[in-house]
Amino acid sequence: MGTTPTTPTRAFNVDSVRSEFPLLQREVHGKPLVYLDSAATTPKPQAVLDAVAGYDMHCTANVHRAVHELSTEATEAYEGARTALASFINAPRREELVWTRGTTEAINLFAWSWGRTNLQDGDHVLLSEMEHHANIVPWQLLREQVGIEIDVAPITDEGVLSVDAVLEFITDRTKLVSLAWISNVLGTINPVREICEAARERGITTLVDAAQAMPHANVDVQAVGCDALAFSGHKMYGPTGIGGLWARHDLLEAMPPWQGGGDMIKTVSFEESTWNDVPMKFEAGTPNIAGAIGLGAAAGWIAELGPDVIASHEHELLEQCVKRLDAIERVQLIGTAPRKAAVVSFVIDGMHPHDVGTFLDQHAVAVRTGHHCAWPLMARYDVNSTVRASMGAYNTVEEIDAFADALERIIEVFG
Ligand code: PLP
Repeated sequence: MGTTPTTPTRAFNVDSVRSEFPLLQREVHGKPLVYLDSAATTPKPQAVLDAVAGYDMHCTANVHRAVHELSTEATEAYEGARTALASFINAPRREELVWTRGTTEAINLFAWSWGRTNLQDGDHVLLSEMEHHANIVPWQLLREQVGIEIDVAPITDEGVLSVDAVLEFITDRTKLVSLAWISNVLGTINPVREICEAARERGITTLVDAAQAMPHANVDVQAVGCDALAFSGHKMYGPTGIGGLWARHDLLEAMPPWQGGGDMIKTVSFEESTWNDVPMKFEAGTPNIAGAIGLGAAAGWIAELGPDVIASHEHELLEQCVKRLDAIERVQLIGTAPRKAAVVSFVIDGMHPHDVGTFLDQHAVAVRTGHHCAWPLMARYDVNSTVRASMGAYNTVEEIDAFADALERIIEVFG
């Protein structure tokens, strides 16, 4: 497996993109599926399905440990995927990419290992009001263990997090700024580069939650200037159960392992063990080999089309979606920031979001309803839940219209 290309190598054509996704060919309740739940998880293109099946069918073996041919092939594919992902995010070194189960595990790893080593009683960690629980609860666990304090930078009613709002909360006790690049509820694209720059000037470490950025933005860790970044494979057309933590090599070197077992050691005796090099120091036990290989293929698939090309297609979908929803009187959009990815949350006056989601399902439209693992954000907008339509490279303007038409009909009949 080679590295991911830096410029698109395929022309974008939404019909041909769609045809690569077997899931999108199916019907639901006898109607063509309209999949608008990509922020929760994305269907996988054939290239990813083939990569996973290729490992299962042709080179199933454990990695790093055996000398036989299958293990050599599996290790090459698995480590090739690491190279592909490292290249996809423009990491200076491939060893800086640690495989995890996803964003949640990556942030927990960082909080546990970096946090317990570098933070002490009274140190502050700065988050924002729009964080996913995955970027809140690990810091609360650390607060219980170490005694850190958590600050929360506010957002505007439109769902904008300004650099100034972040700066206002930075004091000489702030040791870490940990923020979502793109909100999974509001779709807001945060100014992470500017925030990381301001943090760096003040000697503050930065962690970026890129769960929603990987499928919607051009993720370049060097351009962003963060110290660490977390992501999930299943939100970027890859398999579930695989993701990564990228962090600067010197940071990883100085961090202690967080789980013990096979692969993460250099030597073991009952008296003492020594740790493997980065990144394997953080990868105890048999990893998700097929998942990593599938994720390598997903990164390659996105890179072939070009993240910017996908983002511009999704922007068209977003504009159509906002236009249609804005025209429905009882719909209130939650999150109207000028810089947004194709994630649209809303409530309908007098209708519970779960009912709206259930009715939409009858029209074969798959959306998310609930708190989206962002309770503090729900409280910020004084709602318990929202309906969320989130788009991907495979969605069409016709699907957005089908969704909006279904919504109008539902309001007419049940509202
Ligand atoms: N952060 C954000 C912004 C998310 O949208 C999500 C998932 O929705 C997560 C973190 C957690 O990702 P995962 O469940 O894949 O670990």
